[in-house]
Amino acid sequence: MSAFTADFSAALVQPSPNHGERAGDGKPDMIILHYTGMPSAEGALSWLCRDESQVSSHYFVNEDGTVVQLVPEARRAWHAGKSVWKGERDINSSSIGIEIANAGHPGGLPDFPDRQIEAVIGLCLDCGQRWAIAPERVLAHSDVAPIRKVDPGEKFPWGRLHRAGVGHWVEPTPIAGGRFFQRGDAGQPVEALQSMLSIYGYGTEITGEFSPETEGDVAAFQRHFRQERVDGIADFSTIDTLHRLLTALPQYS
Ligand SMILES: [Zn+2]
Repeated sequence: MSAFTADFSAALVQPSPNHGERAGDGKPDMIILHYTGMPSAEGALSWLCRDESQVSSHYFVNEDGTVVQLVPEARRAWHAGKSVWKGERDINSSSIGIEIANAGHPGGLPDFPDRQIEAVIGLCLDCGQRWAIAPERVLAHSDVAPIRKVDPGEKFPWGRLHRAGVGHWVEPTPIAGGRFFQRGDAGQPVEALQSMLSIYGYGTEITGEFSPETEGDVAAFQRHFRQERVDGIADFSTIDTLHRLLTALPQYS
């Protein structure tokens, strides 16, 4: 693989052969954050650069905050897989993928070191500015591929990113008692919940039935926006947080 000039000036370049042409207008308008989910960062990085893996990302952020670029931003990296957001299914064509070295759920969800999060913030600000990416389009892999994917996980500090100007976020509504909806429930309130998830961007089908897929979407939402409890049950805290996020979207204000 021939080297290229890094789009993010602070990045080192380690080219991956795994990329192609972006479909559509060729411009990324979202950022997808991942964790590697592997015990070692070196192992994860070398896997993303191996022809046989058929996976890649644009960037790789080490625990010490060093950033490596694997694929030029103008090219389509292979990180999202089968996914959907706002009805769009070729997320690889429309996104920049960032892999964050972290052992993830298989490794007991270790904390993300400060230096690593600072690097992710700097990288997202830089990409976001260069491509004019809307804050609400900085998303988790789990948002675009619920059930199938759980990264970067419920310990990823989205609130901290937001305070630094990255992503969309409201302080989650505290967990309290009250009415809730879960798998097997049906009716108008379930339909309303599904509509809200779908308007926000999730691939939720509006059926009025709280299906296993709806449960997966609720859990993905919680993993990003109401991290204290990720159980797929739509309690008041979950629904109210979702409602407040929708209200905080620029087109609603
Ligand atoms: Zn991922």
